[in-house]
Amino acid sequence: MHELRSRIICPVDFEKAGKQTGYLRLPFSSDVSAYGWIGIPIAVIKNGTGPTVYLGAGNHGDEYEGQIALVRLIRELDPARVQGRLIVLPATNTPATMNHSRTSPIDGGNLNRSFPGEPDAPDHRPTAAIAYYLANAIIPMCEALLDMHSGGKTLDYVPSALIRRDSKDDAHFKRKLAALRAFGAPIGYIIEGGSPSAGGGSRPVTITALADSLGALTMGTELGGAGTVTRTTLRVAQRGLYNFLTHLGVLEGHPLAAPAPAPEPRLVTVGGPDYYVHAPTRGAFEPAFDLGDEVAAGDLCGWIHQIDEPDAPPREVYFARGGVAFCKRPIVAVERGDCLAHVGTDWAG
Ligand SMILES: [Zn+2]
Repeated sequence: MHELRSRIICPVDFEKAGKQTGYLRLPFSSDVSAYGWIGIPIAVIKNGTGPTVYLGAGNHGDEYEGQIALVRLIRELDPARVQGRLIVLPATNTPATMNHSRTSPIDGGNLNRSFPGEPDAPDHRPTAAIAYYLANAIIPMCEALLDMHSGGKTLDYVPSALIRRDSKDDAHFKRKLAALRAFGAPIGYIIEGGSPSAGGGSRPVTITALADSLGALTMGTELGGAGTVTRTTLRVAQRGLYNFLTHLGVLEGHPLAAPAPAPEPRLVTVGGPDYYVHAPTRGAFEPAFDLGDEVAAGDLCGWIHQIDEPDAPPREVYFARGGVAFCKRPIVAVERGDCLAHVGTDWAG
């Protein structure tokens, strides 16, 4: 066990039974508060014996389904129903969450590209300090981890849960696959060989990759997005959260009064660059598909118009690969290089 080189002060006793809430205190000296700290909300709900489970949201601050589902769980869950320990962080990158932005307004940090973090991170690098504390103080305690994401303001997803397959450890993968099915999102997304959206490769820069490398049963989500929530995406988030905990044996019985039966997810995977469509130029994007459509290679994805040049023909953009178009940019304004859509192909097993 190495020394924890973090300035974060933790207010909760991880060994105490019952429900505790408080703030991890990250010292932050600024022009408006010389001796201040950033308060990262944390809850621990412990009872009986069972696994320790990390539940996180607000890793990206503009992804809301998980944030709402987790603050509801903290308020509503009776600790007597728990067998084990839940460590809940509903606003993991708190500065980003409070700013409703993907990245931190303080240091521009993208928490889910910052693992394993930085020991002794100075005040002006809070994102690296949060990643280090999670990687070294929190995640090593956990047998399972659920980190709840969505598309944020600039992408929208068919509600999906996702797992990684980056080792040949079949027993570990099979446990994750069973949990993915139990979560019951419409799409179960299996990432093989590193996350393409995180630049590929196997360096564990995301919280799920890091937890995977420590042997935890890990799962992420892409529950919706477009900078908003809907009743449908929230229902999938909350149902999936409770299904996941029930599957792990941490909850005795299902605490939702009348859970809708979860569907068998459609299992898909996302491979290399040809799964993605990016804008070749700036302009106004008119999609030629709806989220969730089946598309074929060569199908039209949409048009990019130059509204101030009505005689100029729009630039047509095409899907390079067929599949289910389960991610779409919901914003009309595009710049060259923006992701407009990506597809998933049925997982071959
Ligand atoms: Zn995210």
